[in-house]
Amino acid sequence: MSFVKMEVNGIIIKAVELSTGKRLLQVLTDDLGIITAIAGRENLGKTNKFSVLHVLMYCRFVLFKNKEYYNVDEFDILNIFWGIKDDLKSLAICQYFCELCISLRPESTVSKDFLKLFLNSVFYISKNIKNLKLIKIIFEMKALSLCGYMPNLIYCCKCGKYDANSMVFSIDSGKIICDDCFSVESGMYAVHITRGVLYALRHIIYSPLEKIFSFELSDNALKILSNLSEKYAKYHLDTNFKSLEVYNRL
Ligand SMILES: [Zn+2]
Repeated sequence: MSFVKMEVNGIIIKAVELSTGKRLLQVLTDDLGIITAIAGRENLGKTNKFSVLHVLMYCRFVLFKNKEYYNVDEFDILNIFWGIKDDLKSLAICQYFCELCISLRPESTVSKDFLKLFLNSVFYISKNIKNLKLIKIIFEMKALSLCGYMPNLIYCCKCGKYDANSMVFSIDSGKIICDDCFSVESGMYAVHITRGVLYALRHIIYSPLEKIFSFELSDNALKILSNLSEKYAKYHLDTNFKSLEVYNRL
């Protein structure tokens, strides 16, 4: 039987050892969304080459598909992101990104952008050149936006006001409400935000991927926004992420 081979670039977001000695991988790819692929000796020769495949390794994969799974025929390592494993907080946040990604399951139509966001986020973490909390906020909000949970931050959803010293972000509806229109009964899932936080949120949601990391925030704004983006992810995905709990305890 002959199999059609295909080539994809992707980052491993989960790797599980199977009792057969093979390795089951979940890979966030550039064209196919998340795929499940099996790596084993019969595909990659008698060497243990496949055993180096681990989480957060970015590779070019040559795959073939049988009925259920993709099989890894060969691979080249493109980036290993050295530096992450030396720091527990960095490792926890990257594992959280992997969990978020598995929970969101980006469609193939947004796969390229999602992978780019993932790679850029992990790159900045590995180089330790951006505030970790800021990267987390950007990843959470942009990843959710790419996968169908884009908030509407253009104006107050009740009166159309574009700007105010403070507004309220509604976690459940993903809309903003100005102080004049806000009422307690509409505020069960509300987070009060300053103008600076609103502008930062707009920057993350509406800027092209190349530009979303190019801003900084005060510690107080980071705290508000980090709380908001965590709540937004947890509410819409209805999940408590274990690695996020680990990150927040560190
Ligand atoms: Zn209003």
